[in-house]
Parts: sequence; structure tokens; C-alpha cells
Amino acid sequence: MEVRLAKTAGFCFGVERAVNTVIGLTKGDCLPVYTFGPIIHNEAVVKDLENRGVRILQDESEIDSVTEGTIVIRSHGVSRAVHDHMKRREEETGGRVKIADATCPFVKKIHKIAEQESKAGKQMIICGDAAHPEVQGIVGWCVSPAIVIGSVEEAERIADGLPKEICVVSQTTFHFNKFKSIIAFFASLGYDRNDSVVNTICNATEERQTEAKRLAGECDAMVVIGSESSSNTRKLYEICRQECPNTFYVQSVDDLGYRAFPSFRCVGITAGASTPKNIIEEVQNRMAEENFEQMLDETFKTIHNGEVVEGTVIRVKEDEIALSIGYKADGILSKSEYSSQPIADLREVVKEGDKIAVKILKVNDGEGQVLLSRKRLAADRTSQILQDAFENKTVVTAKVSEVVKGGITALVDECRVFIPASLVSDTFEKDLTKYQGQEISFLITDYDPKKRSIIGNRRVLLTEQKKAAMEEALSRIQPGDVIEGVVKNVTDFGAFVDIGGIDGLLHISEMSWGRVGNPKKHYKTGDTVRVYVKDIKNDKIALSAKFADENPWANAEERFAPGTIVTGKVARMTDFGAFVEIYPGVDALLHVSQISRKRVEKPSDVLKIGQEIEATILDVRPDDQKISISMRALEAEPEEETVATTEEAPAEAAPVEDAPAEEVTNEETATTAPADAE
Ligand code: SF4
Repeated sequence: MEVRLAKTAGFCFGVERAVNTVIGLTKGDCLPVYTFGPIIHNEAVVKDLENRGVRILQDESEIDSVTEGTIVIRSHGVSRAVHDHMKRREEETGGRVKIADATCPFVKKIHKIAEQESKAGKQMIICGDAAHPEVQGIVGWCVSPAIVIGSVEEAERIADGLPKEICVVSQTTFHFNKFKSIIAFFASLGYDRNDSVVNTICNATEERQTEAKRLAGECDAMVVIGSESSSNTRKLYEICRQECPNTFYVQSVDDLGYRAFPSFRCVGITAGASTPKNIIEEVQNRMAEENFEQMLDETFKTIHNGEVVEGTVIRVKEDEIALSIGYKADGILSKSEYSSQPIADLREVVKEGDKIAVKILKVNDGEGQVLLSRKRLAADRTSQILQDAFENKTVVTAKVSEVVKGGITALVDECRVFIPASLVSDTFEKDLTKYQGQEISFLITDYDPKKRSIIGNRRVLLTEQKKAAMEEALSRIQPGDVIEGVVKNVTDFGAFVDIGGIDGLLHISEMSWGRVGNPKKHYKTGDTVRVYVKDIKNDKIALSAKFADENPWANAEERFAPGTIVTGKVARMTDFGAFVEIYPGVDALLHVSQISRKRVEKPSDVLKIGQEIEATILDVRPDDQKISISMRALEAEPEEETVATTEEAPAEAAPVEDAPAEEVTNEETATTAPADAE
């Protein structure tokens, strides 16, 4: 295997100059040496300098804490404000603190352009990464607010508000082709390239990117070496990847251990501007070892379509994950093959170094990559779990993912289970949307993966649960038990009350000793009620709220002794009399003949519902819950009418409710109707 190293790989002029400056200072007499931020984006180099006594100032606030030594401005440069702050510190300490400016001359040139052009009134536009220290430094040399953009799309977004005069520069390591596209865009707006644009991309960067692109196009595979935090290394990787799908990114020779190389004829190597020479040499030497190719072949296993492997995440993008799977080529797991669940950005759920079990869809997708699927493996595994649940009738719990026509769908990991509307509940459910997103339990009652049919049944589970609850409840209650329950539903004939897992019926006639016309006026769903079990027949439980100690008939004989004068309200009327509530739950009959000494055809001729009247008790029969009363008996008998009255004397006693007065005998004088008989 041929290994070709890019001539431009590794330290650029500016980085080498900065690193050598720091190393030189560590041997001088103005110690200790500080760098303002890590001297370059390479952990190995920074560590080495730390071992030489170099300390890092993290931000501007730490400048004033330095009392002696040298502060080195790194190749990225700093803003005007930070630069001036350091100079002030130098003066304040009488020179005990010195400033060594290792800003790359190419970056310094941009600082000058930024200062001059912004002073001249031009709008500064910087192409680059706004979070990069070099860009932040350039922004800090502009005397008016600068705009940072990273793409043509971003340039389009700012186009409307731009003044006549602009000055476009770039971060030294900005992608050359992107910069060209942005310039072309501004030219299309009418800005003169000569007046408005200064190409400040460093030649070193441009040359490195151009060479990497050419090399990637010539080789079967590319290895890009650099630190994770180095933006120019990441750009190199992107450029090489576009030319050569077999592009691998490593930080050091150690990373080659789990990278994969098929039997490539030729492998190219390039490295970011902050990658030291020794790291590049180590990688190059390792790859050039005579038995390297053979070692790779021995190291990497063979794989087949459909096989399940575990991979280590080596790179995550918004919509794609690269996994090292111990094979010669890396595996690619796309967002759509990661999960059936909607995921906006894979970086939110996966990070480098994570292990993921995957199924191999295709060993070679035509570009030398292995296509993987996590969701299909999960679906296979879940399918097996669902089959077991079907065979063993075990309960499955999952979230409802969708309400569809005719039912709902629950997602068990990556498997969809359909629950028809008729099997969702043990009662009719008109609106199933309330289940959306809810976790529910069900049984699998139909399993046929070939027909893609996995049917869930929640109804059977609810029915079983209710039956068990009923049996349990029935075993612990008996007639006479007083219970607190919760009203579940109110109808015209009564209320269903939950008495601990089962429902009992509180019939309208059992709601009160008094008259209940409409149960809905007395109870509402959710009310807590105190009831007692009146009767249990099969699984029907009759409840009552008419407690014996509250029975108004209990001492009716004394309370309503004949001759007692009572007041009451007319509750209802018939042709033969009016029923008057003389006590809560006690209605007495005022027969039509007992309303007045004058002749009354029917009660409604002289009385109104709700009218309060005074009467005397004629008769009381507590066992039958009947009382008869008379208003007539309270009227004084006019003397001159005595004869006539005697001739026309009405019945002495009131008749029973369901018999006309004329047919009533003296024995039937006391008459009432039970409270619920309407
Ligand atoms: S890439 Fe260019 S501008 Fe940046 S430090 Fe290196 S030589 Fe200087």
C-alpha cells in the first residue's frame, strides 16, 4: 500500500512561529510564561507546553492577576480592547509583565484592514465562524459593528440593509470555495470586487485545502490528522470527504486502532495547521509499516448483510452517524434508520464514543461504506417480544403514538401495534384523541408479522380487571355495610356510585327520605356520597342513602298525632286531593272534601303548588306511611248554614289516593301516598 503525505500537512508558518516563540520564552528570564488562551488547537502541544511551565489565561479578566512574567498573544490575535488592556498592565507593573505578540502577520494585516476600512465608513463583513477567537479579534478592531457570515444564505439574509460601501474579508482559514461564492453574491448585488473585497484567506490554508482536495481525488483513502477543536482540520476533513468517501479522521496514531482500511492501493495523509510534525510522522510511519495492510486485514472481521454488530460512534452530524464497527470501512447510520420517532438533530441523542447495536443493511453501498440500521434491529427484537407476549398472554405497555381511522396505534420500541376502536375500552369511546401520547396497557390478541398485523386489545384487559375488582369487592362487602363512594354517572333514574372498584346503583327512590324529582339536581359526577349496601344480587349492588335513623316516619305517631295543627307546602295535586309536605320526607293527603266547608270541585281551583297551608291531622298510619289532614276542620261552622251543610255533608274522611271520594268508606279516611309514588 502506498502512503502519500501532503506537503502542506501540519504546522503553518504562523503556528510554528507562535509555538517557537513560547518555547523560546520558557528558556528566557521573564518567567513565568502565560499564553492568552491555548497557543494552538492541539491538546498534545498544549500539554507539552504546560509541562514546560506555560500557564494559560482563560480570558481578559485574568490579565490583571499577572504580576510578573510574559503574556504571549497567540497566532489568532486579540481584539483592540484586549491588546490595549495588556499594554496597560505592562505599564502598571513597570515592565515586570511583558507582552509578546505572536499574532500571525497575516492576521495582523486583517486587523489593519478592519480598522482602516471601518474608520472610512465602510460596513465590515467578515466571512468566518463568529465563535472563533480569530474572528472575535478581527471584530474587535472594527470601529463600528461588524457583520459575521458563514454562507451565501447568511449573506442573502443581510443583503437588504447594507450600505453603499462595504468591505468583505475572511477568517484566514475560511473555506476558499465558500468565500468565492459569497464574493460572487455581493458582486451580483453590484458591489465592485476590487473596492469591496479583500481576500484574506491565508495562502497556507488555501494551499493546504487545494492539495488535500487533489490528493483525496487521487487516493483510495484519506487520513486527516488534527485536533477535534481545530476548525481548519474539520474543514480539511469535509473537503477530502467530498472527493473520497473513504476519508478517516484521527487525532493521533492511537485512533488508527479502531479505524478501518480496506485493501487500499493508495492512502493519502494530510493534517490541520495545528498538528505537530511528530504526530504526523507517527501516523505516517505506522501506516507505512510493511505488514500494516496485512495487519488490518487480520484485525478487521468480515461482515454480512443482516448481521447484528455493535459499533462505536466516531462522528455525529445532524442527520447521520458514523460508526466504527470493527470492519475495514466505517458504518453509516442515517437519521431515518436510527429511529421511527421524530428526532430533529441526532447530536441531541448520540455523542462520540457511544456504543450502538445495529443491523447491517448493505456491506457496500457502492461508495465503500456500510449501511446500518438501528431501528430495524430494534423492530426485530421488539417483534420477538411481542410474539412472546402474544403466546404467553403477557401484558404490554406502550405510549399511544397516533390516533388513526378506526383505532389507535401504540409504538412498542420500533414496532407498531394497532388497537381497533372497539378494543380500546370496555365502553364505547366516541373520541379517541384523548389517548394520544398516553401510556396504556393491552394484550396482543393477533400476531402475524408476515401480514404486518399485530393487534392489541385493551378491552379484554379492562374487562378482566373489572371482573377481578368486582369479585374482590363483593368478597368484602355485604348488605348493611355503610360505604363512602364517588358518583361516576347520574341518570334520570339514579346515580352509579364507585364503591371501590365496582359500581353500585343508588336508585332515585333511595336517594332521600324526601321527594327527589330529578337526580341530577341532587348529585353530580365526582361527588362523594355516604351510602349503605341495600342489596346484592349476582353482581348488581343496590345502594341507599335513606338511613334508618334519619327516617321521618320513625316517630310519626307522636309527632303527627290526630288533632295536631301543622303547616306545609302543597307539593302536587290530583283531582281527588292535594299532597302537602308537612315535614321533609313526609307528604300528607288533603282530600278535596277536606279543603273547605264550601264545595270544591277540584283542588287546583283553590290551591297552588308551593302554597303554604295550615291544617289539622285527621289520621296517621306510620306503617303505611300515610297521613290525612284537613283545612276544613279548622274553619268555623257558620250557624245559618248548619242545616244545609248537614244535608250536603261531604265525606267525613278522606279517601285513598287511587280511589274517588264517593267510593271511600269510613275505614279509609286516613290516606297518603309514599314519597316516591308519583
Ligand atoms: S493559517 Fe495562515 S494566517 Fe493562520 S496562523 Fe497559519 S500562517 Fe498565519
